[in-house]
Amino acid sequence: MTGQGLLHMRYISTRGQAPVRDFAGVLLAGLAEDGGLYVPESWPTLTPADWRGLRGLPYAELAARVVQPFIGDSVPFAALQAMCRDAYAGFGHPAVAPLVQLDTGLWTQELFHGPTLAFKDMALQLLGRLFDHVLTARGARVTIVGATSGDTGSAAIEACAGRERVDIVILHPEGRTSEVQRRQMTTIAAANVANIAVAGTFDDCQDLVKAMFADAPFRAEMHLSAVNSINWARIAAQVPYYAAAALALGAPDREVAFAVPSGNFGNVLAAWVARRMGLPIARLVVASNHNDILARFLAANDMSVREVAPSLSPSMDIQVSSNFERLLFEMLGRDGAATADAMARFRAEGRMPIPDAAWKRASAVFHGFRLDDAGTLAEIRRLHDATGYLADPHTAIGIAAARALPGPRGVPMVAMATAHPAKFPDAMEQATGLRPPLPTRLADLYERPETYSRAPNDLAAIEALVRVTVLRNAA
Ligand SMILES: *Cc1c(COP(=O)(O)O)cnc(C)c1O
Repeated sequence: MTGQGLLHMRYISTRGQAPVRDFAGVLLAGLAEDGGLYVPESWPTLTPADWRGLRGLPYAELAARVVQPFIGDSVPFAALQAMCRDAYAGFGHPAVAPLVQLDTGLWTQELFHGPTLAFKDMALQLLGRLFDHVLTARGARVTIVGATSGDTGSAAIEACAGRERVDIVILHPEGRTSEVQRRQMTTIAAANVANIAVAGTFDDCQDLVKAMFADAPFRAEMHLSAVNSINWARIAAQVPYYAAAALALGAPDREVAFAVPSGNFGNVLAAWVARRMGLPIARLVVASNHNDILARFLAANDMSVREVAPSLSPSMDIQVSSNFERLLFEMLGRDGAATADAMARFRAEGRMPIPDAAWKRASAVFHGFRLDDAGTLAEIRRLHDATGYLADPHTAIGIAAARALPGPRGVPMVAMATAHPAKFPDAMEQATGLRPPLPTRLADLYERPETYSRAPNDLAAIEALVRVTVLRNAA
């Protein structure tokens, strides 16, 4: 199971109407053709003895062994090990995802030691390397295009910079991202990276990306692809840190529980996958800000869309959580037609009808929690007063959730720390009077030269800039 037998792993769509693919095919495809999301045809499991055998491994080695069953024979194990080592070598902490104790029975796991100081790096650093490997084997290239209002763009760029088989072009709305966010994207000097500042809003940028994908000849010529959060490989690459935390706290011989600041439901879904693989995870707390569709669903089976309102935890300002469909598919007994029907009604009516039995299955494991901005600032302040620890607004919501819904039977609770506090200096100052400094490896961010193009909100102009980047690197 752990690295020796490379079994073939097949993936099916949650809507049941797309071709079955292997891991490499799912990595490159992203979304399935029927609009569904890919999931493993069956869940790999490890025995308690297998899990015990993974205790104490360095993070990169553990990651290779936990991810391997999902990759199957798509990538040789030695190559996967090398990619994992390389992916996590640049992190700012030797443990990669260290646990910090905050109270009796309460820990936080820091997932923000990657190059962009947010947990997206944990998966994307490995994804960029997997893309290169799979594309090299196929003799192919792709062009990743995306739009960002700030955070996800920099994590995607850091993941792809310098990759041999990938070009990446990220659009951001000119003058509408924070300076830190812009500089994290525009100071990465690599020939395969292009940043475009668009004269428009984030929605304009997203519309331009959609228009590029809809332009079939352009899409085919440029081999357009995406690394958004519905890509199965991102979920798979997030499972190892749950395993690392659980093993460190005594699993498989002792239960553990997690509280996860959630937006698109990708991070907490990875925790559920870890549970499905055999780790004794007693409870998963889904933590939200005032954009609380997941909390309302888990409390009262109310899956209804409301307006998104901005908060101090912007990466959780989401009302339609794209990865929820994977859980829905499981709760509906893996019935693709029923899943497609529920999603169609959700889109049409803004409310998802979920049978009571399915909701009960979800709410037996997942518990919802909601905290508004005032509560978030109060939690940051309380935690700092009690322990000296500085938690960013996303993490603070997770910690408050862990305190409000402690694990049953006194099991240890781990709150996931999804961003470094230095990414949100204004909120931190408001709560504590302190502005956390950037880690030393990023301290010169304001001195680094920036490279980006500027473009009007015009499809032809953007496509011309994408083509220049791709042709420059095609030679
Ligand atoms: C992306 C992100 C989240 C939400 O994670 P999902 O996988 O979308 O639920 C939470 N916190 C931070 C800081 C993030 O960047």
